[in-house]
Amino acid sequence: LVEMRGVHKNYGTLQVLSGIDLEMWPGDRLVVIGPSGGGKSTLLRIMMGLEDIRRGEIDLLGKRYITGHEQSGKTRIDSTLRKQVGMVFQHYTLFPHLTIISNLTLAAIKTRGMPKPAALDKGMQLLKRLGLESKAQSYPSQLSGGQKQRVAIARALMLDPRLMLFDEVTSALDPELVAEVEAVMLELAEQQMPMMLVTHDMWFAKNIASRVIFCAGGVVVEDGPPEQVLGDPVNPRTREFIERVF
Ligand code: ATP
Ligand code: MG
Repeated sequence: LVEMRGVHKNYGTLQVLSGIDLEMWPGDRLVVIGPSGGGKSTLLRIMMGLEDIRRGEIDLLGKRYITGHEQSGKTRIDSTLRKQVGMVFQHYTLFPHLTIISNLTLAAIKTRGMPKPAALDKGMQLLKRLGLESKAQSYPSQLSGGQKQRVAIARALMLDPRLMLFDEVTSALDPELVAEVEAVMLELAEQQMPMMLVTHDMWFAKNIASRVIFCAGGVVVEDGPPEQVLGDPVNPRTREFIERVF
């Protein structure tokens, strides 16, 4: 599904990723853990096509998606493949002046050319699935944080992504709202939606991951099943990190 080879990223003189190699298979749920500032968000933003890379390449769905060119400094991105990826961020990025249903349907209508009635229909179905049907005509400010994050997930799902990216989507939420958002992600996992997610919630990581990677110093330090990486890490850096966060 995804193949990254030698992905390098820097912000000016700051080297953030120095050769990331990783593969994802269909149905994989890859949890990315690692120290703050280690480049986890950067990695997801690159996968979403939001950041240039200096070197390396990424394949998606068996096709070349992103290529970095060191000489020209230009990154080539296949915009058709980019449309196959959905992302939800830590801070809800809903449009405050639009109703929930309009937030859901806007991109589908404007950028994908979906007819309005079909978009409304699909939006309402998604809201129903997430138990938010009664909020269709509300504005984001009238929703709880957990409800807003569920809407953000629904909005990404509107565009039928083949891969979902979640960057700490529950870390700005009150503890009692975390479970309702995690439940939606677990349901997507059950439906075999491939996903790459960053979380600091190790209990959730254990529950949802098919694989965990520990990123530090700009590289993948450890990559394996959750029981191994979270329970019995091989690498001393992973071990030290896990002991600190658990
Ligand atoms: P956290 O766990 O705190 O979210 P992270 O692993 O997601 O951390 P990133 O946000 O990917 O880390 O940041 C990696 C490094 O890149 C950090 O040192 C950060 O300061 C730097 N960085 C991120 N975005 C930019 C930017 N737009 N311009 C310059 N430096 C940046
Ligand atoms: Mg981050």
